[in-house]
Amino acid sequence: MLLYTSTRKDSTYISADEAILRGLAPDGGLYAPQYFSKIDVEQLAGMARARLWAEVLSKLLGGYAADELENIVSTGYKGKFPEIIAPLINTGDINVLELFHGPTSAFKDIALCLLPLFMARAAKKLGIDEKILVLAATSGDTGKAALEGFRDAQGALVAVFYPHGGVSRAQYLQMATQRGENARVCAVLGNFDDAQTGVKRIFADAELNDYLRARGYRLSSANSINLGRLAPQVAYYFAAYLDMVARGMDMGEKLNFCVPTGNFGDILAGEYARQMGLPVGKLICASNENNILTDFINTGVYDARRPLLKTDSPSMDILISSNLERCLHLLSGGDCALVDNMMARLRADGAYTAPELLTRAFKRDFYAANATGDEAAAEIAREFRETGYALDPHTAVGAAVMRKYAEATGDETQCVLLSTASPFKFSPAVLRALGITPPEDEFECMRALSDLINVDIPAPLAELEILPVLHNDIVEKTDMGEYVKNIAAARA
Ligand SMILES: *Cc1c(COP(=O)(O)O)cnc(C)c1O
Repeated sequence: MLLYTSTRKDSTYISADEAILRGLAPDGGLYAPQYFSKIDVEQLAGMARARLWAEVLSKLLGGYAADELENIVSTGYKGKFPEIIAPLINTGDINVLELFHGPTSAFKDIALCLLPLFMARAAKKLGIDEKILVLAATSGDTGKAALEGFRDAQGALVAVFYPHGGVSRAQYLQMATQRGENARVCAVLGNFDDAQTGVKRIFADAELNDYLRARGYRLSSANSINLGRLAPQVAYYFAAYLDMVARGMDMGEKLNFCVPTGNFGDILAGEYARQMGLPVGKLICASNENNILTDFINTGVYDARRPLLKTDSPSMDILISSNLERCLHLLSGGDCALVDNMMARLRADGAYTAPELLTRAFKRDFYAANATGDEAAAEIAREFRETGYALDPHTAVGAAVMRKYAEATGDETQCVLLSTASPFKFSPAVLRALGITPPEDEFECMRALSDLINVDIPAPLAELEILPVLHNDIVEKTDMGEYVKNIAAARA
């Protein structure tokens, strides 16, 4: 059976169930598969989507049969996603993979609608009867997707930490109005990196974990550090490829993907798809003004000693890209000692340098560039003017970088742009890009945008207008552990 090891030490191998339940390895590393099984892409052609998802997942999650996974996928997406989970749209000039048709209008739903089912199965298999306390640090979209995904999950509690003032108004309202007894939402006085570091510290805090255990809780993670978050994302790369073939691309031909990137989870799923035999050409890593990944891929130097800037694409405002660690591990041939060393440097000095060979491996598989807010806005305006299609600000960063890639390289390989969010989640920014002064009120903005682009506002976003704010907790970044303790104490 396929097992998983920490990216920092490969002395113990654990099952997919254990990796999903734990979220993060005790040594601070992320769980990575021992090897990748190949998939014959041609055999997936014509399959119903749930089946296709299951076939891909069964190759990534050891110990899960495809039939069981098909059941998990159908159950998890039922009533939450349309039949075609991730439609591939040709806008007239670009191919856009729309990943935002789930309950919270961002791509994170694709994994977070399934994660609770994976966790429930894992707990059952491993005979664990503690309640699961799921922690998520969010740059805006993971939080709501986790709250929604776990809304009806029995025996699970979800606590979400978001940067105070660091998310869009719609993202804030989505989280602050969350109903359900098992939801905790808390603003952190800091940025996303502070929230993510705080969550990682909680995982590594043995005393805190003992305290929780004594009260019947066990921690897990809903961030893309969790293997169960990553795995479902691999499936849509295969689906998009087959959609391109259905539209005339030759089977076996290479296909590029451009991915608006923050924590490097979504784009890493593309690298996993490549490892599993999908003919992936370049993975184009698009960043906003927080261009640390651009610098890393181009130079091999990861240097986090720079300010985190607030942008119109807040879900990509990240300096510590967690999943890059999995990619360092993968492309170094599983060199845990090297990864451990680089991560220690990052903690101690705020920077590390990858060895030459590893940098070359990155350049072989990836291309990286960044786009400013103005460049992304210009892309929104141009795309709408020429095709009538409205991009969200994150996807627009991707579109701008995709153009830069084509200009810089002349590569004529076809390319799919991953669209990570609905434009309605960021209506004021989209309106501004289209040359319209956004109204004060968020919902006026949504309506103005809807009229302009002739697309209905997604119902879960429209209904936020009448929902009461239920959460207003706020903590210092140093008090996140205490906050988690209090949750368990109150419920025990
Ligand atoms: C999370 C998110 C991203 C970044 O995805 P990663 O997997 O963290 O790289 C991009 N766009 C949107 C809208 C997101 O919510």
